[in-house]
Amino acid sequence: MALISLDRMKEIMDVPSAAGTLLKKSEKEIRFALNLKMSRDEIICFDAFVVYHNVVLGPAKGGIRFSPNASMDETKNLAEIMTYKNALMGLPFGGGKSGICFYPYKVDDFTRIAIIKEYVHMIREELSAGSYVPAPDMGSTPQDMATIYGETHKPETVTGKPVIIGGLPGRLQATGRGVSCATKLGVENLLGKKLKDADITIQGFGNVGRWTAYFLHNMGARITGISDIGGALYNKKGIDVEKLFLHSPSSRDTVSGFSGAEPLSPMEFLSLESDIFIPAAAENVITGETAPKIKAKMVVEGANDPTTEEGEKCLLANGTHLLPDFFANSGGVIASYIEWRNAKSGNQTSAEEVFDMIDKKIEASFHAALQARKERKCNSLREAFFSLALNSLIEAMKARLWI
Ligand code: NAD
Repeated sequence: MALISLDRMKEIMDVPSAAGTLLKKSEKEIRFALNLKMSRDEIICFDAFVVYHNVVLGPAKGGIRFSPNASMDETKNLAEIMTYKNALMGLPFGGGKSGICFYPYKVDDFTRIAIIKEYVHMIREELSAGSYVPAPDMGSTPQDMATIYGETHKPETVTGKPVIIGGLPGRLQATGRGVSCATKLGVENLLGKKLKDADITIQGFGNVGRWTAYFLHNMGARITGISDIGGALYNKKGIDVEKLFLHSPSSRDTVSGFSGAEPLSPMEFLSLESDIFIPAAAENVITGETAPKIKAKMVVEGANDPTTEEGEKCLLANGTHLLPDFFANSGGVIASYIEWRNAKSGNQTSAEEVFDMIDKKIEASFHAALQARKERKCNSLREAFFSLALNSLIEAMKARLWI
């Protein structure tokens, strides 16, 4: 991952050079075109990417991103994050990701279904063999996973499906559940505060942002700021998250125009005074330019890759605590693991059991990272979490005689 160098890890732990070699490159990169004839005169063509970064722990697992900015480089980076996320959480999955280059909110349902069916057509063997198991990511939804299931007819080929067709109760909320649990641990153990005394701002009111806001609000925290692509909101006394759900019922809607808070510009939003800032939208939000404006005492990465190297340096120099993406947003893939396991075994799990497993895994990993930070003299918590994930990958490579 861009923010961690394996050379730096060699200074704090034993990293066999063969393991470093295997982790430096993705194992498989597939690039294809999704071409659809829409009418006699019109065709649409979208670029699509599937990457397996490293599969020593199991099949490649990671979501499908629908975005006009999707690219091979972005997909490779996100697949790599998945390798470390799955390893950190002790899941039997490797790191994978897909990207399809289109703006999902501008296409009608008919076209969307056609795009996904064509995507399945192009990688049917990967899906049928179970070597890549997709799930929702930015821009994609449980309905899109239902379309994939409709094409493969095997429930274990895709996770994040609607509950009624073999999806998992709690999967929709799972990433936000994990981010809220990570935030609580950080507030109590790093800031020495109680959650009910903390002011929190959240960027993004899509799947991750809205459920993070929901759980933190219900745990008693004050969510003072929320933004999305359409606008930003501030209320010093706390935004009523349940009312905001009614105003903005899905990721396609916007928080803009909500009457229970004042509107702000995106830059005013980033500069808000708060205890915690949770980027839960896009990547490269915290940069060398924006980081000096962030006044929060802790950043919890709900989104994947929201912080650049310069951004992180600046936050750490200012004494801001940072909980990294591959730890903080792992709730979604933990739930996906339960859904995948249930699809194979026929077992059923309640949302409470799912949330319980997420909370336990996040808590155990948080305390292990605090310990690793001390023992390995890490410069940041990101390094500490990374050292734990890397250690699992090295052990798995040894067990499979890869190194
Ligand atoms: P989503 O499509 O449901 O929602 C994205 C949200 O971000 C929307 O509210 C959108 O308006 C907002 N947004 C986009 N660009 C913005 C900008 N420039 N400024 C402010 N807001 C902006 O996506 P999601 O599933 O919530 O994913 C968000 C992030 O979390 C992504 O980085 C994704 O990779 C990561 N993530 C998602 C999951 C999951 O289970 N969905 C799991 C782990 C990580």
